[in-house]
Amino acid sequence: MTLYDPSSDKAPGLLARAARAAGSRQDLTQGGGGNVSVKFDTELMLVKASGVRLKDVSPRSGYALVNYGNIRRRIAAGIGGEGEFSDFIRAQALPMKGVKAARPSVETGFHALLNTVVVHTHSVYANILNMSAEGRALGLELFPGAEFIPYRAPGPQLCSAISERAAARGPQVFFLANHGLVVSHSGVDGALELNEKVNETIRRRLNLPAYPASRPSAGINESNAAALARRGKTFFLENVLSPDQALYCGPEALEGRGEMEAVNEVLGALFYILDGIKAAGFTPRFLTAAEAAYFDTMESGRYGRQNQQ
Ligand SMILES: [Zn+2]
Repeated sequence: MTLYDPSSDKAPGLLARAARAAGSRQDLTQGGGGNVSVKFDTELMLVKASGVRLKDVSPRSGYALVNYGNIRRRIAAGIGGEGEFSDFIRAQALPMKGVKAARPSVETGFHALLNTVVVHTHSVYANILNMSAEGRALGLELFPGAEFIPYRAPGPQLCSAISERAAARGPQVFFLANHGLVVSHSGVDGALELNEKVNETIRRRLNLPAYPASRPSAGINESNAAALARRGKTFFLENVLSPDQALYCGPEALEGRGEMEAVNEVLGALFYILDGIKAAGFTPRFLTAAEAAYFDTMESGRYGRQNQQ
């Protein structure tokens, strides 16, 4: 196979456009959350690189090239053990001309299974449904064709759950419990429109307020500090809503030490979601102790914060 040259193909531009649209809004992605992919040729796919923020993806950097045909065949044959599958995905990265090699996103597995363009965000609107006991019923009413995936840890477990409902063609919408939203479509515009339609429908139905952008701060910013004080730090540490909370909002981060830009974005999103759940008269649904503990053991390993998404 000849070496892929991103500068003479349109896929990198399409990927960067999808990434910027999803990554430049804090109500859709916070910190290193979310990922996008574009399939082209018969079996090739560009997918956001692990550890890169969506808004930093450009036509020349921030993504990996993989053979999604190999990944589909592997998933069909059985995902196997967690570490094994992650190593397999990592080994699928192909060299590109003039673009630095990068590790494919931890979510590359489910991207491989879906239609041409996949946009995965941590939309605060979708997450009001995903992180509440009553949200699924409202989601089914608003989006009868959507798929609702019970909580699974990001990576192989989530990929396995999505594989049972995935279609290689046609638009699809997935609500991922305690995690986020995935849309797939045949084109970038279609995917972004579908994504926006889902968000707008929820915003209207729940009459949600405008999303307040997180203010940069050397420590916890003022609005997050106030919300944290209101709810209590201990409560917040003991009740985990999402993988992002587990990874970004540990005891040190709540003391103002860590990647504070990401921490403030994630905290802002969590408080917006909790407020939205309360205003709707819903009940928050937190991760179980075992689900939350998964991230303690993974933090320094494969699914470390630096590898996230
Ligand atoms: Zn995610």
